[in-house]
Amino acid sequence: MDYKKYIMSVMDFPTTGINFRDITSLLEEGPVYQSAINELAAFAKSKNAEVVVGPEARGFVIGGPIAYSLGIGFVPVRKPGKLPREVETVSYEKEYGIDTLCIHKDSIKPGQRVIITDDLLATGGTIEATINLVKQLGGVVAGVVFLIELTGLKGSEILKDYDVLSLIKY
Ligand code: 5GP
Repeated sequence: MDYKKYIMSVMDFPTTGINFRDITSLLEEGPVYQSAINELAAFAKSKNAEVVVGPEARGFVIGGPIAYSLGIGFVPVRKPGKLPREVETVSYEKEYGIDTLCIHKDSIKPGQRVIITDDLLATGGTIEATINLVKQLGGVVAGVVFLIELTGLKGSEILKDYDVLSLIKY
């Protein structure tokens, strides 16, 4: 399916000079959303995924349905102060300052095969931090999936040792 035609590009959002790739226009089209999730879920299944991990908030919109369709668990990665139980944390550098992400400490069993997902790969900072959280808990990264990959940025470089599926590339 030609998923790209369902992505709207918004110039100067959230700040001047950024060409934002808006996935909500794809999510609004039920059969298109379903087809995208089916493709990503088939890939996750082929990697023998046992659990799906995704960062807030758009990682939930992709990861939740993949987990549901495979009948496996979904583990959320969140900003500090959102998860109620004991967490593992990782900090990473963003364009302006440091960001921190958290995961429930007991959410992944050592050796468990994990599919990591987000809506979009840009510099790779978010997904690298998520991968590090999974590894800190002893999980095995079985694959990484995105709706969109912005190629030519550092993100693809960071993921070169992993099995990656991106449905749309810019
Ligand atoms: P990265 O950490 O790879 O630089 O940025 C990816 C993260 O920022 C993802 O969590 C994604 O949701 C968000 N993001 C950055 N740029 C865009 C964009 O153009 N469109 C969307 N939908 N998300 C973006």
